[in-house]
Amino acid sequence: MKLREKINTWIFDLDNTLYSADSGIFQQVHKLMGEFISNNLNMDMTEAKKLQTKYYKQHGTTLRGLMDNHGIDPDHFLDEVHRLDYSIVDSNKMLNQELQKLEGRKIIYTNANKKHVIDVLDRIDLTDFFDEIFDIKMANYIPKPELKPYEQIIDLFNINPGTSAMFDDIAKNLVPAKKVNFTSVWIDAGYENFSDDVEASKEYLDFQTRDLSLFLKDVNEGKL
Ligand SMILES: [Mg+2]
Repeated sequence: MKLREKINTWIFDLDNTLYSADSGIFQQVHKLMGEFISNNLNMDMTEAKKLQTKYYKQHGTTLRGLMDNHGIDPDHFLDEVHRLDYSIVDSNKMLNQELQKLEGRKIIYTNANKKHVIDVLDRIDLTDFFDEIFDIKMANYIPKPELKPYEQIIDLFNINPGTSAMFDDIAKNLVPAKKVNFTSVWIDAGYENFSDDVEASKEYLDFQTRDLSLFLKDVNEGKL
């Protein structure tokens, strides 16, 4: 069955999925995270950066590591690290056209917070386009790829996994997606995120593409 006939719920990661990491927004986030750790845990930037990377790898997000090991207030952290210059993020006209053509519900599922989502959607001209946003706070700060928030989003939004597709630029985030029976689509950004494990995730990827716009165009034209 063609994807456009099978799928009625489209679940998208935000960062590096609906806009490119080439924008430099992540360098800003990483810098602010380092500064936050340095200021709040009283260590120099070199130590702070090491801890940041360690927690990201071990806990899925730096935030989770800071919460588990240092009792950091998550909302305070998220506010601080998203004081970004969003002017460098731009909209993608072709992507937006293809998104508009998709029939069914569209949902954002992100490890970031809602304010970041709202700010980015404004920049990429997709304000109010999505039916639902599932952010890290709604997931009780449990990040992808832990299984629990995937079960939660299904419950919360009454999702039928068999008719849902999930898109993410981190392959290992699609492992639980496949396990809960979503159709999984990996956006291959051309380089491996340092926390990712593409090789171990491969068997869970139903589709992969280098360009989300072209993939959705094929879906809309009934080629997939
Ligand atoms: Mg992403």
